[in-house]
Amino acid sequence: MTQLNETHDPASRSWVDSANQPDSDFPIQNLPFAVFRRKGSQESWRGGVAIGEQIVDLALAARHPGVFEGMALEAARAGSQATLNALMALGPAAWSALRLALSRALRASARAAQRAALETTLIAQAQAEYTVPARIGDYTDFYTSLYHATNIGKQFRPDNPLMPNFKWLPVGYHGRASSIGVSGQPVQRPVGQQRPLAEGQPPVFGPCQRLDYELELGVYIGPGNAQGQPIPLGQAESHVFGLCLLNDWSARDIQAWEYQPLGPFLSKNFATTVSPWIVTLEALAPYRALLARPAGDPQPLPYLDSTEQRTRGALDIQLELTLQTEKMRTAGQAPARVALSNYRHAYWTVAQMVAHHTVGGCNLQPGDFLGTGTLSGPTLDQACALIETTGGGKTPFRLPDGQTRSFLEDGDTVIIRGWCQKAGAARIGFGQCRGTILPARVTG
Ligand code: CA
Repeated sequence: MTQLNETHDPASRSWVDSANQPDSDFPIQNLPFAVFRRKGSQESWRGGVAIGEQIVDLALAARHPGVFEGMALEAARAGSQATLNALMALGPAAWSALRLALSRALRASARAAQRAALETTLIAQAQAEYTVPARIGDYTDFYTSLYHATNIGKQFRPDNPLMPNFKWLPVGYHGRASSIGVSGQPVQRPVGQQRPLAEGQPPVFGPCQRLDYELELGVYIGPGNAQGQPIPLGQAESHVFGLCLLNDWSARDIQAWEYQPLGPFLSKNFATTVSPWIVTLEALAPYRALLARPAGDPQPLPYLDSTEQRTRGALDIQLELTLQTEKMRTAGQAPARVALSNYRHAYWTVAQMVAHHTVGGCNLQPGDFLGTGTLSGPTLDQACALIETTGGGKTPFRLPDGQTRSFLEDGDTVIIRGWCQKAGAARIGFGQCRGTILPARVTG
């Protein structure tokens, strides 16, 4: 587990002024990674690191003599490509070397020559566009919030909301990598089969009527493991490159009809949106938290249990979801908050997901992607899917202008934000993960 070091010093300031603003997501203590190019250009995609409102272009910086050396240079070169898979494959020592070199070169106290060199590699985020930062080979979505599992279980199985396996293993299913897109991607309302209106009738076929979001975090895998060689819990975090925001768009009516016996399929595979920035586990080190299990719950089996995970396995990440309807947008009204939750409510940790995923011999590969599952907390204002907020659509959510939502309507924009904040540490953020619903295709 990453220890605190000089890169976390909350007193550090950068010569990039916008990084020193108290509400910046990207102060010098964060240094998250994305893949970007100049907006509207045909330039090559390449890796970059956020600092304030700027991006350090890793491809330019890696070619500039005197900016990086040794392992940091190797990492910067790997991060110069159109995907971050090569950087992810290098592992924590290389990521840390690059982070330390960037931290020192971006500090207000940096040497003049180094600052001058790095200054020429900066591009304003306002002039950039982003893509999915890794070639994602496989995507697995977990189900790690006890509150979400219980709330949604009540909708689908009123008599038996929480399945007996939930407290023994991180439940998951294999998702679809091809439809993962970056923040800003338009999301077309899916079309599909829904429950018959009456017993003995054929299913209804048409546009989804119960379209929902799921606020989650995404996890990018770093170095993989050989097939047949599980990753032990104690080493799991050295296989994790970092975390991003994730919206697992969900078609509840399609899900209700298709999900038994093999789980969600078309209700989840039409689109999944990620934030462009990946915040490393090292950047999150000041925000480790106690993994609290309700009294009386079983402790995990030995391969999922350690003192370190119990005491520091969770992460204190604030998560917010806001909604802006088309009418609000037209009227110039700001998005309205629907949920404010925290990742520390999750029942299973990142390391437990990795250890469980591989315990049977499955091999993870650099750039593989895990979703945490919907990160609802214990109260209704912490519910991270509309199906929970509205009790399955029965109690519509009221927006400030009087509009209501049971499920998403065409033109709705969903925005997820995440940040970490506490006394004695620098505030760091994840940027945002945004998507707007487009009408379904016309069906005949
Ligand atoms: Ca999900």
